[in-house]
Amino acid sequence: MRKKIAAANWKMNKTFQEGTNLINEILGADIHLDNNQQVVFSVPFPYLMPIQEQIGGRSNFFVAAQNCHHKTSGAFTGETSVDMIASMGVQFCVVGHSERREYFAESNATIAEKVNLCLSKNITPIFCCGEPLAIREDEIQNDFVAVQLDESLFHLDQDAIQKVVIAYEPIWAIGTGKTASADQAQEMHAHLRSVLASKYGKDIANNISILYGGSVKGSNANELFSQPDVDGGLVGGASLVASEFIQIITALK
Ligand code: PEP
Repeated sequence: MRKKIAAANWKMNKTFQEGTNLINEILGADIHLDNNQQVVFSVPFPYLMPIQEQIGGRSNFFVAAQNCHHKTSGAFTGETSVDMIASMGVQFCVVGHSERREYFAESNATIAEKVNLCLSKNITPIFCCGEPLAIREDEIQNDFVAVQLDESLFHLDQDAIQKVVIAYEPIWAIGTGKTASADQAQEMHAHLRSVLASKYGKDIANNISILYGGSVKGSNANELFSQPDVDGGLVGGASLVASEFIQIITALK
């Protein structure tokens, strides 16, 4: 059965003290999670280890790196390799976030390399895809995201693809307060699942978690997460506020 996931993306926000306070508040809410429900905190690199320790043995809670380098090691000052992330016991890594694509010129091909490295170290890549506004206005978003899947994921075999979590994040909805409607999200998630099914078959497509990202809030999470093909969310701004993110976790079905 595919997992339902509430993933926080802190981006470059929160001091360490603010971050640990936020985690304390969220853990303090003592939310009951079923076996197939997970909460993932994508935090800045220096916080991965201490926040992982803060989470302790809670089996449904995880930390994630927000990025990794696409080479295994070497002279890349300031970068962090998948090996380093894995050596700290981190089990998730966000790859191909639209901010990385835009500000750091990450291509589908580079992201494919990151996906491979993560999988080689048993790290679950949270693979982000999604279209900019101009593509949505031209109504060619379905083809656009299909190419992103094709160029970054479709070299994977049937076993490997099921270890990937996909996050559909329309760029026009990220940090803008402009959420895709529940219908728009469901339509795109169903499309992504059908693209996966045409490559890997229906059973495998049904086994892959597809998260929605783009101005998810406590107030809209329930409606978005109730859509049949929406398996949770990747959440930026609202994940920085304990009461909001608690509501979002609670909305996992
Ligand atoms: C994100 O950072 O992936 C994101 C979706 O941000 P926000 O929730 O703030 O739109």
